[in-house]
Amino acid sequence: MKLKEEQNQVAIELFSIGTELVLGQIQDTNAHWVAQQILQLGGELRRVTMLRDNFEEMHEALNAAIQRETALILTTGGLGPTPDDMTVAVVAKLIGMQPVVSEETTAEFRERRQMPENEVLNEALIKMATVPETATVLQNPAGWAPCISVVHKQSTLMLMPGPPREMKAVFEAHIQPLIAERYRAEIATARVYVSMFEAETSPLMQKVMERHPNVYLKAYVALRNAEGNTMPVDLVSTSADRADAETELQLATDYFRELVTDTGKHFSFENES
Ligand code: ATP
Repeated sequence: MKLKEEQNQVAIELFSIGTELVLGQIQDTNAHWVAQQILQLGGELRRVTMLRDNFEEMHEALNAAIQRETALILTTGGLGPTPDDMTVAVVAKLIGMQPVVSEETTAEFRERRQMPENEVLNEALIKMATVPETATVLQNPAGWAPCISVVHKQSTLMLMPGPPREMKAVFEAHIQPLIAERYRAEIATARVYVSMFEAETSPLMQKVMERHPNVYLKAYVALRNAEGNTMPVDLVSTSADRADAETELQLATDYFRELVTDTGKHFSFENES
């Protein structure tokens, strides 16, 4: 068992903020995309939470992530100019800082709009340039609301805009390099097929994960081929070292094959049906 501190060094959580997401009006594609990126980078996404645009609910949820000593807390949404955009205000309160107008950001806005120095910025832009005191402001390559980063207790919080195109641009420019550097890990993956029902496979998958804690197994019930009675199972092995990730993947796959074939069921690397 690893030490708690060591475990949390790699913990990442993501919060998708927006009432329209919770109501099912907009699909949370940001979470799906970010989860895929983090896996590719070898980071460990522990939890994804969807939140309404509600100050208390956001405050409570983000505070809980800080209390869990989550190393990297990512949010998307709620950085825009309208009153329901309150991520900055929530985070400022959470870390005990005042929201202040970032001069660096207003200067960037003026330059991008080619505005003369004496022209007053509109309220929308002023709000999007408002960040918690002590925050680091990372400019948005695809829109106005910048990415805001603050460090509080054991956690680094990075706030991203909600629109997917902007979120991706900000993630690629500012967050990807950070995760790659901090959470340097290698992954090795394999997909296998078993002629089993989920209820039969689950206990075997559990056994493999108990013996190989750095290998994660996931059965894709929805992709089960009823005719051929085969179901795909993915194995994802994570380690600081490439060779180690591959060795663990091989050992876990061999053990899983042994457990499946011992029950008389079919195990294959190809979808044969
Ligand atoms: P802005 O208000 O400036 O557009 P914002 O950072 O406040 O940006 P939101 O207002 O929360 O972001 O979202 C803007 C739009 O982005 C939403 O209407 C929605 O279409 C899309 N969006 C937000 N969050 C997500 C998400 N998690 N997945 C997919 N689309 C999203």
